[in-house]
Order: sequence, then structure tokens, then C-alpha cells
Amino acid sequence: MAHTHTVRSSRVRLDASVAVWVPVALAGGVTLIAAIASLARESLSWHDSVGIALLVAAATLAEAFPVPIEGVAVGSTSLATIFLVAGATIYGWAAAAVAGFLTMALVELGRRRPFSRVAFNCGVYVLASGAAGAVADRFQDGTLLGLALGAIAAAIAFYVVNVPLLAAVVTRSRGVAFAPSLFSYVQLTFVPFAVMASLAVILVVLWDRSPFVAVVLVGPLLATALYQRWIHGALNRLREFDRLKDEFIAIVSHELRTPLTSVYGAAMTLEKQQLDESRQHELLEIISTEAARLSHLLDDILWVNRLDSGRARPHITPVEPLALTEEVVDAARTHLPDGLSVEVLHDSPLPQVAADADRLRQVLVNLVENAVKYSRAGRIQVRLGSHYGTVRFSVRDEGPGIPLSQQERIFEKFYRLDPNMTRGVGGTGLGLYICRELVDAMNGDIWVESAPGAGSTFSFELPVARAS
Ligand code: ADP
Repeated sequence: MAHTHTVRSSRVRLDASVAVWVPVALAGGVTLIAAIASLARESLSWHDSVGIALLVAAATLAEAFPVPIEGVAVGSTSLATIFLVAGATIYGWAAAAVAGFLTMALVELGRRRPFSRVAFNCGVYVLASGAAGAVADRFQDGTLLGLALGAIAAAIAFYVVNVPLLAAVVTRSRGVAFAPSLFSYVQLTFVPFAVMASLAVILVVLWDRSPFVAVVLVGPLLATALYQRWIHGALNRLREFDRLKDEFIAIVSHELRTPLTSVYGAAMTLEKQQLDESRQHELLEIISTEAARLSHLLDDILWVNRLDSGRARPHITPVEPLALTEEVVDAARTHLPDGLSVEVLHDSPLPQVAADADRLRQVLVNLVENAVKYSRAGRIQVRLGSHYGTVRFSVRDEGPGIPLSQQERIFEKFYRLDPNMTRGVGGTGLGLYICRELVDAMNGDIWVESAPGAGSTFSFELPVARAS
């Protein structure tokens, strides 16, 4: 049930709700003492003690590893309810109250929660489990039907005690109205509750036959929990992707507008004013560089589209790596900012690579341009070397570097580093994604080695062309 986690995930301050947690903790404490006294009087059989211990272990595990259930927007859901309700139906209210206490105390103490929270959550579990056992007892008539009805009634009793108490503590500490909050809680938690109630009934009926037979439930339960986790992870990735896409639209609009404004401004000035030749030349240069920036941006967007729709199959032929690299580096040198230098270092002789020359050029241009764009000063080295049947291309800069945690992510579509690290350098987060897809399509690998403040080295390897 989505209970204790609701409280946890909503960062409720329990101290602001003393009026709820203290009575709940006290009532739980009194019930627990009564339960222990009752168990001591009954003197449990060895068989029952083992059964209870097994259920407590299962409930504790379920409580410690809650499952995020899609559509239940109240944090993760603990499946401990199943085992506590089953325990209450089979072993009675006293055993259930002790089991509820042990489950919550073990998990909450393990998590080092503040005392008020441990006391409240334990109180809730003791009261809910005790109530479940007391209600289930009324249905026990020795028949299978009585057992099943008892389990359903126990589950309902657990829910009826649990959810209002949680709603009470949350509404109290937030100072909001109780009734509407309770209503929305019930709406959110009812479906998982119904599923857990059914599982509790199945568990009780199986357990009645033999606790060993009940072990068959472990498989489906684990599979459901793992599947839910997987779905939740996949949907979270989609949500993140959607967010990045929105951000991308904002970035692209901005990136389109900036060069367009410059081009427009320069063209208007040229048209309206009498300017000397050098000023005219300056404005024409602005127009051409900004237009190039625009076309570069549009190219990137078109490439992503082409790659995503599988329309970008490379045409692989033998390519001379050194000639192509020098061509790219020479082109980069023509517009290098002051304080930056680029050099090519290489093994000789270098074998030809099996690549699409245009796509290979595109990857190199992108990596060299990133090195120029992000490092701004220092030395850029482009190295070529042969490595076990491949040719390795590395572009090394002395720029700001990239933290380890981001080194995989920068190759994702739209992903850009924290703007503080990139200091307002324009970009869309598409370049490295395009590089990775192109290198993959040419049967190569691409990666980065970097540390903040220590520059970055982007490398990729392509297979050597087979002599024909
Ligand atoms: P863009 O440069 O358009 O933002 P890229 O996909 O080329 O997109 O790069 C993704 C991110 O990786 C960049 O936003 C930047 O934060 C980081 N990055 C790429 N190259 C470098 C580099 N040489 N040095 C530091 N950071 C880099």
C-alpha cells in the first residue's frame, strides 16, 4: 500500500503534527504490549513461530524494497500489506500486531529515521495489523470460504486504519483540509490496495494448505515487482526525453533567432547607410558567418532526422585518414580564435580506413569545432594512430573538461552540460549524438576521456580497410 512512502516522499514534518503522531504512537504502544502479553499467555507452537517469522521476514523485505507503481503518484508502494494481512488472518491479531511492529521498526531504524517518524509509522502498522487480525477472527469458521472472507475483511480493516491515519498526519502538518485529502488518497491507493488484497487472499489459502506451497507466490510477486520497476524506469526515461525535447525547441528557437537578428541588422545597415568600404566589408562578413551558423544548425537538425529514420546509410570505401584530417584541420585554422592552436600528430605509415569520407569528415569537423568552441585557448592536438586493426582518431583540447558522470550522457540527443560549465557557448546538444550515430554506422566506437579542469580527449576508431 502506498502508505509510509507517501509520508516519506512528501517531506512531511512530523513535529508539526504532534497531535496526530503522539496518540497514534501511544495507542500502538499499548496495543503492542497487550499483544505481547496475549502471545505469552497462549505460548505459541514451534510451527506457528516459524510461520510468523517467515511472514515478518517477507514483510520486512517488501517494506525495505518498495515498488514504484505507475499511475500511483505517491512515491513507491510497499507490498508488506500482503504479508501482514495474511499473518493477521492466519495467526490472529496479537501475532499480527507484533509482526507489524517488527516490520516497520526494522526498516525505519535501518533507515535512521527520526524518532517521531519511527514511532508514528510503527504505531500505524501495529494498529492496522491488529485491527486486521481482530476483524478476520470474526469470519473464521474452519471453512475455506471463512478463511478467504476473513482475509478480505482483514485487508479492508488494514486499509481503513492505515490510510486515514496517514492522511491525518499529512494534512495536519501541511495545514490542509482532511476530507478532500483523504478522498484523493483513496483514489490514488485503491487499485494497488485491491491487487494486494487479492494477493493476500491467495497467500492465506495457500498457506492454509502448507506454508511451503505458499512459496510458489514468490515467483509471480517478484516478477510483478521487477516488471513494475522496469516500466517505471522506462517511462521516466521517456519523461526525461520529453523534457529535453521541450528544452531543445527553446534552444533551437533561440539559436535561430540570434544569427537571424544579426543578419537582418547588418543587411538593414548596409541598405540604409552610406558606409566606407571597410565597414561594408565587416557587415558582409557578419552576414556570411551568421548565415553559415544558421545553415550549420539546420544541417544538424536534418541529420538527426535522417539518422533517426534510418535514411543515412554510409557508403564505405577505403579512405586516406591523414589527408582527410589535414584538410579538416587546415579549414579549422582559417577561423581559429587568438590563443588557440591546432596540430596534427600521426603514426606513419597509416593504413587506409573503411569509411564514408564525407561522414568521417563530418565527425572530425564536429569534434574539432567542439574543441575550439569549448576550450577557447590552449593547444588542440589531433592524433592519428593504428591500433589492432583499427585507426584511432583523437581530438585533445585543454578546455574545461567534462565530469565523469556526464561523459556518457553528452552523446545523447539534445544533451548539453550545465550552462555554468559551458559558459554561454551556443549549441543544441546534437553534434555528439550525430558523431556517435555516424561512427556506429561505420562500425566504429567513439568515447571521451576527460576530467573537469584537465581538458578533454574525444577518440573514435574505425576499421582498417581490407586490401582488395
Ligand atoms: P553542442 O556543442 O551543440 O551543445 P554537442 O552534442 O556537440 O552539442 O555536445 C554536447 C555537450 O558536450 C556540449 O553542450 C558540451 O557541454 C559538452 N562538450 C562537447 N565537447 C566538449 C569539449 N571539447 N569540452 C568540453 N565540453 C564539451
